[in-house]
Amino acid sequence: MGYQIYLFNSLTRKIEKFAPLEDKIVRMYSCGPTVYNFAHIGNMRSFLFADLLQRVLKVVGGYKVRWVMNITNIDDKTIRDSAIGSPAWLPEMGKQSNDPMKNLTKFTEFYRKAFLEDIQKLGINLKDFYKMPKATDYIPQMQELVRRIVDKGFGYIVNGSVYFDVSKWRQYDIYGKLYHIDFEKFKEGSRIDADSYDKEEFSDFALWKARKEGEPYWQFTLNGVKCDGRPGWHLECSVMEREILGLPFDIHTGGVDLKFPHHEDEIAQSKAGYGVEPTVFWCHNEFLLVEGKKMSKSLGNFFTLRDLLEKGIDPLDIRFLMLSAHYSTQLNFTFDSLSSARKARQRVQNYIYDLFDNQNLKGKEISVEQLKDSVFGELANDLQTPKALAHLFDFLNNNPADEVAKSSAKELIKFFEELNSIFNVWKIEPRPKVEFTIPEEVQELAEKRLNARKQKNFALADQLREKIKEKGFQVVDTKDGYIIKPLTEE
Ligand SMILES: [Zn+2]
Repeated sequence: MGYQIYLFNSLTRKIEKFAPLEDKIVRMYSCGPTVYNFAHIGNMRSFLFADLLQRVLKVVGGYKVRWVMNITNIDDKTIRDSAIGSPAWLPEMGKQSNDPMKNLTKFTEFYRKAFLEDIQKLGINLKDFYKMPKATDYIPQMQELVRRIVDKGFGYIVNGSVYFDVSKWRQYDIYGKLYHIDFEKFKEGSRIDADSYDKEEFSDFALWKARKEGEPYWQFTLNGVKCDGRPGWHLECSVMEREILGLPFDIHTGGVDLKFPHHEDEIAQSKAGYGVEPTVFWCHNEFLLVEGKKMSKSLGNFFTLRDLLEKGIDPLDIRFLMLSAHYSTQLNFTFDSLSSARKARQRVQNYIYDLFDNQNLKGKEISVEQLKDSVFGELANDLQTPKALAHLFDFLNNNPADEVAKSSAKELIKFFEELNSIFNVWKIEPRPKVEFTIPEEVQELAEKRLNARKQKNFALADQLREKIKEKGFQVVDTKDGYIIKPLTEE
């Protein structure tokens, strides 16, 4: 039996007890990337949050999880950047063709593969996904939803595009369930074509957009009217989640920036067309700031994962940093915070190595169950990772690995194995044997130091220890002398 999971639901704005609709199986949908460039680290926070959630549901909650993340490969941006002559087309994508559809496919496949590579580096396992559907694989179903919405009177056609009638919908249900919308500013009958827009410009939004010259399109005849074109971005998610998970499902995740208009429009479309709201729980993660500010190219604080890896940063340090902050708080990503995360991660890793080294038959017995309750209890409570890690570090500080009994060390290793199936940033194995040779000068310094110690000249001994350190080694004193080891990160 797992722990009772609690989650903050953006729909009710409350922390609620979680239980799946279907016994033991959690159906979860995460808004995935729009594959028009390399994902930046702000996007990555959102995907890591979803990964954390699905892992906590499995490991802490004891559920099976059917996790779906979509790939948006048709929208305003992918069309713009794959167009003939676009400066965003890279030489490694090959030659552009005269067929806009072929260009779109080549362009988005390039970035889809890059995305899969990136998330795997961040410790997300592709095998954890039930499905990663591409929007272009569901066009007929999308056309079907457009038809349903129009037939029920909540959509209308203008020049081959189809719009959602917000005023009509408001007579039937609330528009703005996740996000407060000021209807004073709403101009009835005004329409917006863009996939992304601010709440200031909200109006009737496009379900389906008429074909424009030079753009990829699908044939579509709606109630006798020729509507060749392509789906709006919001429509895509409404369709894929229903096709793959069924409605309603349990959890829908995404960044807070998706609440409006994306998720608001998703709710309206699904309910208007299918008669059901998509999900029970809406879970949103907060923004990532970089060096205290919103990421922007002009501020020079805009990073893709690849930018950071080029700087030699370990992607698992990024994962650990992002998971260490609570998902509902803004996370300020700085290079200092990254190096603190690295140290904290290393501290746990060394503790695990030390547990494998433990041969202490007379050490103290530990209640591993109690430790697990305190850590997993926090994770079960709306993914309180900062509190969970605080309990963990408290424990580490109070129970050096070489002081616990060998039997407890074994149990602790099992606990770390479980914990790592959530965090996925440690190696649960003995300390790797490093092959090294000790330079003669280091050997000599160590001998001198031993003599200094014998003569009780501890000041000199300390100086010599520092000199040895400068050469990249450390001396560890033993009963009958010393051993020399390479310096390791602590
Ligand atoms: Zn979506």
